[in-house]
Parts: sequence; structure tokens; C-alpha cells
Amino acid sequence: MGHTIDLGPNWIHGTVRNPILELANELKQTTLSPPEDAARSVYDELGDMVEAETAIKHSELVWGIIADAFKYSNEHHNSIPPEKSLLDFFESEVKDKGLDEASSKLVFQMAHIWGDFVGEPMEKQSLRFFWLEECIEGGKCLTSAGNSQYFPNTHVFQENLFLASTYKDVLNAIAKVALARTELHLSTKVTSITSKLEHTSERAVVVTTASDTDLVFDEVIMTAPLGWLKHNMSCFTPALPLPIIKAIENISYGRLEKVYLSFPTAFWMTQNPAETSFFTQFLSPTYTNQNPEHWSIECVSLASLPEHCAHATLLFYVNGPCAQHVTSLVKGLEPTSKEYFSHLNDFFAPYYSRLPNYDPFSSDCKPAGILGTDWQNDQFAGWGSYTTFQTSKSNEIQLDKDIEALREGCPDMGLWFAGEHTAPFVALGTVTGAYWSGEAVAERIAEAYGMGKEVKQNGIEEKEKDDMNGNVEE
Ligand SMILES: Cc1cc2nc3c(=O)[nH]c(=O)nc-3n(C[C@H](O)[C@H](O)[C@H](O)COP(=O)(O)OP(=O)(O)OC[C@H]3O[C@@H](n4cnc5c(N)ncnc54)[C@H](O)[C@@H]3O)c2cc1C
Repeated sequence: MGHTIDLGPNWIHGTVRNPILELANELKQTTLSPPEDAARSVYDELGDMVEAETAIKHSELVWGIIADAFKYSNEHHNSIPPEKSLLDFFESEVKDKGLDEASSKLVFQMAHIWGDFVGEPMEKQSLRFFWLEECIEGGKCLTSAGNSQYFPNTHVFQENLFLASTYKDVLNAIAKVALARTELHLSTKVTSITSKLEHTSERAVVVTTASDTDLVFDEVIMTAPLGWLKHNMSCFTPALPLPIIKAIENISYGRLEKVYLSFPTAFWMTQNPAETSFFTQFLSPTYTNQNPEHWSIECVSLASLPEHCAHATLLFYVNGPCAQHVTSLVKGLEPTSKEYFSHLNDFFAPYYSRLPNYDPFSSDCKPAGILGTDWQNDQFAGWGSYTTFQTSKSNEIQLDKDIEALREGCPDMGLWFAGEHTAPFVALGTVTGAYWSGEAVAERIAEAYGMGKEVKQNGIEEKEKDDMNGNVEE
């Protein structure tokens, strides 16, 4: 199709002192803050468009309850039973608000959008640790109304920007130093890590690769995803300390996938682009036998991006069991094959065919190309997407302490961890968090070598720096 697309992140979560946004601005990248008005459309379970006013009203209700859930989780997390989910919170709030049956139903259906933020359905989202999903100011939560949400109880206005020009240049800029000044072994799979520090006074951590090559280092920073660590704890010698093992076991890893459908023209754009939706939600669809569990589906129109970045593409997000189902449809198929195309097209046609101006006889309304991700079957992605915090049965599990344990790493073994799963609480699961985690661990190693704080400080707030260093106040 000739377009560059991001198979991972599209969004910059948070606009206040976010190094990724600063970098994007420096590089003169194009971001989109989708307009609040007319930025959404919602289709009900029969495939009919929900009246705009009703959609806005219910979207506000949903995000109001989510804001209340953050507040509740922040204030009461120690007393919230570990099995309580975000869905449970919605159930009690909807009851308290005395909504009629139709409104309650719409709120529940629209609330499922939460799954596309964390990669798993809201019924699995821990209420006790919901506060860990909160984000830097201008942070992680976006609304089906657009890109930003005012949280009435916290007085925080959170904003997310769609990186319309893609992450390509930002990634290249971040990689520049590593490419210029280090020896990189690309396409090299690490199979084990052996710390010899316990037995010898010399620092030696041996990284063994799939070709049985041993590489010896003074210190090793392990940046493989949390999902990879979950499957490969036995590759560390000596065994990882118990707090690290527990952390890797306790913290969850989500399944968010994306599917891009490109069309010859953006047929869904109305004459007035300002009236065309950026987000579209398809609630609990009952009008297709392709979606056996009536999972809600969401898509974003890339035709609404600023002109030089716009293309006639719909980006669908799917999560959890729905994502598992979608990836299973094309398991083992070449993305260039007819079957790959037709299986994904069959799944998504019931949704794009609801959009304005759709004509089943027009070739403009048939996708010209389809490409989906399959992170959950990719060992290097850790069989999933990113960290999330799910309900559990144990009162003993303290996921915040688990994150801190990972951040602490095993300095005595010369083994450190970095990546989104070790980020400051406000940036877990994001590119910004992954970036900050790398800076923080580099700083700590430099300090360990008496080099002081030579690593550039980022704009992270004092509290968050404390969080990152494990100095969290209860
Ligand atoms: C579909 C999707 C959408 C997302 N959307 C957003 C978004 O809009 N905004 C946002 O901020 N974040 C988003 N994220 C999250 C963001 O992409 C991650 O938080 C971030 O990329 C994590 O960076 P990382 O360095 O921790 O891990 P990764 O980027 O996963 O890097 C880990 C590296 O380890 C390598 N590796 C794994 N195993 C081995 C091994 N055995 N040997 C050698 N190398 C190995 C992998 O190949 C990979 O290069 C999204 C993620 C997904 C999956």
C-alpha cells in the first residue's frame, strides 16, 4: 500500500514532561490530538448508530466511573479484595446512579473499551491495583470521545496524542547512539544468563546465545519483555531471587493486537471531515456470526490524520480472548496469501460495512490490503503486549512491591532489569516508561561504578523518580 504503519505503539501517553513527546517535537513529527466533538461514533448491538448525544452522555458516564475507580483504588487499595474487578466497581456504581435498564446496558457495553487500553477485558482488571494503571499528567487514558479526558475528582486533564507520522523517526533517534557507539548483535537469541559473581571476585556475567556463543560482561541489563521472563525463568543461573520470581509470576501480561485494513479511498469520510469520526466503537455485535462471544470492537480512522500523514486505512484494536480468536483465524498463513486476507476480511467486514457511505457493490469499499499483528504468538514479544494488573485470589500479592522488586533487579548477580515492566508506576506499559526505565537503570549502574549521576535526568517529577528508585511512601 506504500504506507508505513506502526505494529506496536501509535500513541504518546501524556503530554507533560514526556521525553517521547519532547523527542517527537524536536524531530518535527506530526501528532494528532483528535477533536473532542464529533470524534466518536458508536454502533449498538444491532449495528445501528447510537444517537450522538446519547453516545456522548454515556461516554462521559463511563469515563466518570473510571475516574472514580482510580480514586477509589488510590484511596482504598489495601482494603479492596484482590478478586474485585473494574467490572465489579461498574456494577455497584451503575446501581448507585439509578440508571434505567437501557442506560445501564449502554454504560456496560461502552465500558468494555477499557480492554483496549490494557489488552485484557475489564472483568480481569484488578480494582485493588487499578491505581497502577494511572498515568503521567496528560496520561494514559483516552476516551472514545477523542484523545483526552478530564477526571473530575482528580482535577487531572489527561491527554494522549496519536503519533501521526509514526514512531519511525523517534525510534531511529533513540537507536542512534546505540547504533553508532556499541557493538550490536542483531537477530541473536539469548538462551541463558549465568552470573559467576558468587564464585569469583571478578565480575563476570555470561550471556549465552542460541548458537552457543558465550559473551562475557561486567553487568547485564535484561530487557526481554515480562512475558518472555514468565516463560524463561529457568534460563538464569543461579536461580533468580524469590522476590523477582514472585514478581514475574504475579504481574500479568496483556494481549492487545491491531489489524489495519487499507481501502482504495476513505469511503467513510463524510463531506465535512470535521464531522467524520476518528474513533468508532461497535458494541457487543449480535449481527455477525463471525464474533461468537459478541466482543466489542473499536477502530480508528487514519484518514482523519493530518493531510500528509492521512491514508484510507482503518486501524482496529482487539484485546484478550477476541484478540486470541482473531489471531487464530490466520494462524500459519502468509500475510500475502488470499486466505489471510479473506479470513480477516470476513471478521471485520460486518463493522466497516456499518460506516457512512458503504456500498457493497463499490470496489472502493473493499479492502485493498489487510495486515494484523500476532504479538501473542511471538516469543520475542513475550507472547503478548505489555504489563497489566489483573484480579487474583491472594491478599498476599502486592503488585506495586513486585514492580519495585523488578526495578531493583539483582545487582549482586550483575543482573538488572529494564523495560516497560520496570517503569515508574505512572508509565508502566508504555514507550515512555520503557525509555525512562532504561535511563534509570543506566543511572544506577553508573552510580555503582562511582560515576555519579552523569546520565541525563529526564523531566519526571520528584515523586515519580522516588517511585522509580523504590522510595514509595505508603
Ligand atoms: C499492539 C500494541 C500497541 C501498543 N500501543 C502503545 C501506544 O500506543 N503507546 C505506548 O506508549 N505504548 C504502546 N504499547 C506498549 C509499548 O510498545 C511497550 O511498552 C514498549 O515497546 C516496551 O518496550 P520494551 O523495551 O520494554 O520491550 P520491547 O519493545 O518488547 O523490547 C524487547 C526486546 O527484547 C527482544 N528479545 C526478546 N526475547 C529475546 C531473547 N531471548 N534474546 C534476544 N532478544 C530478545 C525483543 O526482540 C525486543 O526487541 C503497545 C504495545 C503493543 C503490543
